[in-house]
Amino acid sequence: MKRLAILGSTGSIGQNTLKVIDANPKVFRVDYLSAGQNVDLLIKQTQQYQPRAVAIADVQQYPVLKAALQGSGVILFAGPSGLLELIESLEVELAVNAIVGFAGLEPSYRILDRGLPLALSNKESIVMAGELIMPLAERRGGAVYPIDSEHSAIWQCLTGENPKTVKRLILTASGGPFRETPLTAFVHITPEDALKHPTWQMGRKITIDSATLMNKALEIIEARWLFDIEPANIDVVVHPQSIIHSMVEFWDGSIKAQLGLPDMKLPIQYALSYPERLPRAWEAVSFDQIQQWTFEPPDYEKFPALRLADTVLKQGGTAPAILNVVNEFAVYAFLERRIPFTVISGFVQDALREIESVSKPSLQDIQEIVRLGKDFVQEKVEQYRKKGRKTIC
Ligand code: NDP
Repeated sequence: MKRLAILGSTGSIGQNTLKVIDANPKVFRVDYLSAGQNVDLLIKQTQQYQPRAVAIADVQQYPVLKAALQGSGVILFAGPSGLLELIESLEVELAVNAIVGFAGLEPSYRILDRGLPLALSNKESIVMAGELIMPLAERRGGAVYPIDSEHSAIWQCLTGENPKTVKRLILTASGGPFRETPLTAFVHITPEDALKHPTWQMGRKITIDSATLMNKALEIIEARWLFDIEPANIDVVVHPQSIIHSMVEFWDGSIKAQLGLPDMKLPIQYALSYPERLPRAWEAVSFDQIQQWTFEPPDYEKFPALRLADTVLKQGGTAPAILNVVNEFAVYAFLERRIPFTVISGFVQDALREIESVSKPSLQDIQEIVRLGKDFVQEKVEQYRKKGRKTIC
């Protein structure tokens, strides 16, 4: 039995991870769970999986959790510091970080600092601190197993290959819901429009990132650190059917691809069971049903966020953290209808000019960006309101 911790168990990836565990009850056991605010679901999951300990990040939900689990013997933690205490207490073979956003950074860092293998869905932690996280994993004897479908695909394509023979990584992108929408219509995009992803069912933040293509910028940065590859050797191709999850080109011109239906359970299961492949199969691609696979270059004019990966990787230091944090607060401002869709990546561009990047940052320097980025977005949103610009209502 592989003992697991699932941080962010109430989210889209967290719930899919539990489905993978349900499908493999003799292989995995869940010993730790954590949630942000969704106390009702955390209680249900605790009653079902009987973990040793659970944490809820929102302290206001703690009394509800405590009352429901009284006498259960489950150890309870609350607040962001409680989540870190839970990580300190982990006795597992693998920890899954499925928390969304910058809140996942310190958990990733602490898991790796303890020398534990990390199945990483929280791409934001590697975007913000890849330069710290990857060497930390190596120093402490841990490892980072990607869950993101593109990075899982690349990881699978690279298995058994000599890394020196890799010419380039080709990340595929669905193109999001606005691939065919003319740029002139972007001013009318509402949160409801942007939350309708054509191929994937995901949490709200990543769904908006997929609509701006900021998600692909985050993935370029993630790939740069996970696979220790120069950014110039990472390309993006739009593949609207989301069947080829990414590809690797080798120096002899051969290209390997990994295929699967757009279902996160497959990459989650691979990360959980690595280095084994489990016989439990999720629905596979049927070549009888495939009508057409298409490929096209990304449209940088419509999706300026995509170019920002290159900008911040060249800038280095805390620039990728600035991109990540400002994007995150801007996405929530858009979801709250305080700014239109079109200004999300503009805020990030402004922040990269206005917030000074610190070179060779420590974890604390990177965490400080959360405060700076929050203030920056608040100020920009306020300026936006004062200018009386039309927001989406
Ligand atoms: P969701 O929003 O569905 O879930 C996020 C999880 O994080 C929830 O359990 C949530 O708890 C928890 N959480 C939120 N805020 C905090 C906090 N401050 N402290 C602790 N926990 C918190 O997101 P997804 O599952 O979609 O995404 C999770 C990560 O995986 C993201 O980094 C995303 O980019 C990445 N990813 C997701 C994919 C997908 O298909 N969904 C695909 C590839 C990558 P609660 O709900 O209880 O508030």
